Amino acid sequence: MSELQDAFARKFYYLRLSVTDVCNFKCQYCLPDGYRPDGRKSFLTLDEIGRLTRAFAAMGTNKVRITGGEPSLRKDFTQIIETVAATPGIRKVATTTNGYRMAKQVADWRRAGLSAINVSVDSLDPRMFHQITGENRFHEVMAGIDAALVAGFSQVKVNTVLMRGLNDGELDRFLGWIKHHPIQLRFIELMQTGEMDELFNRHHVRGALIKEQLLRTGWQQKVRAHNDGPAEVFWHPDYQGEIGLIMPYAKDFCASCNRLRVSSLGKLHLCLFGDYGVDLRDLLTEDNQLASLQARLREALADKKASHFLHQGNTGLTPHLASIGG
Ligand code: SAM
Repeated sequence: MSELQDAFARKFYYLRLSVTDVCNFKCQYCLPDGYRPDGRKSFLTLDEIGRLTRAFAAMGTNKVRITGGEPSLRKDFTQIIETVAATPGIRKVATTTNGYRMAKQVADWRRAGLSAINVSVDSLDPRMFHQITGENRFHEVMAGIDAALVAGFSQVKVNTVLMRGLNDGELDRFLGWIKHHPIQLRFIELMQTGEMDELFNRHHVRGALIKEQLLRTGWQQKVRAHNDGPAEVFWHPDYQGEIGLIMPYAKDFCASCNRLRVSSLGKLHLCLFGDYGVDLRDLLTEDNQLASLQARLREALADKKASHFLHQGNTGLTPHLASIGG
């Protein structure tokens, strides 16, 4: 079976799979009014997730990130991990979570086959955390990170969306935290999704500024592996932790794209900022549809563009990242 490759010779080893749109946090930059339930939506079932993962794995995908919405809100989240991890060819199963369930469940997730975990922590100040996320759960989330390290994860990745005037003064505090903790702290540049021009203009900080500061103070850039995510990663001999920078507005961000996304409703998205999704759901109902599903994936990939058009202010049809998995 041929590998997933686009017209620009990019190969796709990494699938980001959203398993729900529902989220229980109200992050200012994502779902400021909270998730609005829509009774008509039914998210991918465990069987559909199994078929989808088998199709991707047979075409070279070796890493799957389970995301959302908040993936751990799914009652069958542990079984989802198990199903993906048991798929031949899948070597790495990661998740991105707001961490609210980690303290209680992370050991089960690890036993089920989870190999990497990203937790979103936008501030180390509990009040600022509450202000940004709409939830007063800082201590719970931090306890979850400790539990993950105790459960045997050798490193936890932490996602922090940098925002001017809110958390951008916390760099030293974050550095102090990772000095003696095996945390890869990933600063994500605020992205403009849907209707958030004012918030974006007020709070966007360029990741390049942090990069300059890191390079001035002895941090060194690591080389990327073929199935690594989009972060530029830096290490420092005096620090146990690492820093990752995710800068979607940087030149060449798309050149190393190795990711495809499938939404919780079973649509393939070729780019986070693409305008449309290719429906896969009709080919996920029976095991014997595998070949047709793979043919559709191959055909869709022929359409993947060289780059997103964020610089021109084109944010695609994505109102917020929760709808197709950030
Ligand atoms: N609920 C999970 C979580 O909180 O991590 C997973 C989904 S969330 C959409 C995934 C990541 O996208 C989070 O780290 C979040 O901070 C990030 N994100 C969401 N909207 C964003 C935006 N407009 N700009 C940058 N990052 C964003």
